[in-house]
Amino acid sequence: MIFDFHTHTFLSDGESIPIEHIRNASKNGYSVIGLTDHVSYSNIDYIIDALKRDCRLAEKYWDIKAIAGVELSNVPAKSIDEMAKYAKEKGAELVIVHGESIAERVEPKTNYYAVNSDFVDILAHPGLITPEEAGMAASKGIFLEITGKTGHSLTNGHVVKTGRENGAKFLINSDSHSCSGLYSGDGQFKIGRGAGLDENEIKEIFDKNVKLLLKKTGS
Ligand SMILES: [Zn+2]
Ligand SMILES: [Zn+2]
Repeated sequence: MIFDFHTHTFLSDGESIPIEHIRNASKNGYSVIGLTDHVSYSNIDYIIDALKRDCRLAEKYWDIKAIAGVELSNVPAKSIDEMAKYAKEKGAELVIVHGESIAERVEPKTNYYAVNSDFVDILAHPGLITPEEAGMAASKGIFLEITGKTGHSLTNGHVVKTGRENGAKFLINSDSHSCSGLYSGDGQFKIGRGAGLDENEIKEIFDKNVKLLLKKTGS
């Protein structure tokens, strides 16, 4: 069982068309896949509509839950609440914000504005997140991401420590941009263990956090 809420298709900078991407995930044993292409106002309407079509097609014929989401990437930090609200109004089932990874810098304060929005579900690869930001994520029910993506994963240990100390909940995502970036076997579990999560914490992610998010997304 693999539950991955952050991946990309060729609608932004991934390699596969959405249905091929979902098929690859299904072959790898995925139960849930989130398709979260990079958006801003330039492409957001088109991407939500296009992803939804293939997610519904996949769910009709295959045993997989496919979620049509977006990742707000490199948008002005102060616009995040407005843009996340717009995404939800346009039908996005999941809204991720590209956090302040030390490997790919977005505008400072992106983490802060993401965890202060009522319309954001996941703060992806939040880099050197502060205790205050982790506490705000906990109180808003925004999940902090532990990532399998090279580079972004450099601060997984810090995210676990700071999130844990401040009551935040985690998810383990791949940020896959291709078939080879998807999880298979126990790869997702190993990323969690490598980040410093213990087996019980990972079990809680799979048993509880995934269900909480699916409920939030209306699934
Ligand atoms: Zn990307
Ligand atoms: Zn991403």
